[in-house]
Amino acid sequence: MRKKIVAGNWKMNTLLKDGMELAKAVEKLEKEKSSDALVIVAPPYTHLSRVKELIQGVKLSAQNCASEESGAFTGEVSPDMLKSVGVEYVILGHSERRAYYGEDNLLLNKKTKLALAKGLKPIFCCGEVLEEREGGKLYDVITEQISVGLKDLSKEDMAQVVIAYEPVWAIGTGVVASPEQAQEMHKFIRDLLVKLFDEEVASNTTILYGGSCKPSNAAELFANPDVDGGLIGGASLKAEDFLGIVNAY
Ligand code: PEP
Repeated sequence: MRKKIVAGNWKMNTLLKDGMELAKAVEKLEKEKSSDALVIVAPPYTHLSRVKELIQGVKLSAQNCASEESGAFTGEVSPDMLKSVGVEYVILGHSERRAYYGEDNLLLNKKTKLALAKGLKPIFCCGEVLEEREGGKLYDVITEQISVGLKDLSKEDMAQVVIAYEPVWAIGTGVVASPEQAQEMHKFIRDLLVKLFDEEVASNTTILYGGSCKPSNAAELFANPDVDGGLIGGASLKAEDFLGIVNAY
């Protein structure tokens, strides 16, 4: 059975003190949650070790990691460094990394493989921009992102990977994918996993939806058979909203 997950991507928000308050509030509400979804938070790098001390039920993710193990890579943070402060998950291929930092599918494949080799669980993001959807290229884009990004992974590797479908036009825009649009793409991704791996991998892989998900729209998104939870940006910065999404399950 695949896991249900709701993960909060804090992006470049919160100073340390606010981030610690937020983590404490999420941990407290997680204890009272009415759903069995796994709750993950992804604070900025600077907060990770401090947040780790404040959470137990809530799991810890980084928002990115280096593609190299160690050495002269100024400003980078390696998977081993993340592991050393108790990080369990790492978001890779977020559309903001792809768009603003030029991260392409080959680099993301390298990061994914290194993260897995070091014992981190990748939350691998994919998603099309509006022009690609309107131009009918969305399936080609998603196929390329997943087949290159997850190339050469074993079935054992795939047991550690979470996929997040995040249509770029829905991220931070307030425009959420309809439940039908989300289900259609999640089903497409699951079918693609059958072709790239096998039925078992496809049915065991958690596929999250991301893009303007809120407590008010989460239930109808999560009601879809192939939507296994959410990757949440803006609404993860308020513990009540974030847990409202978790409890929508
Ligand atoms: C995200 O950036 O991963 C995201 C889903 O953002 P938002 O929820 O703010 O649209």
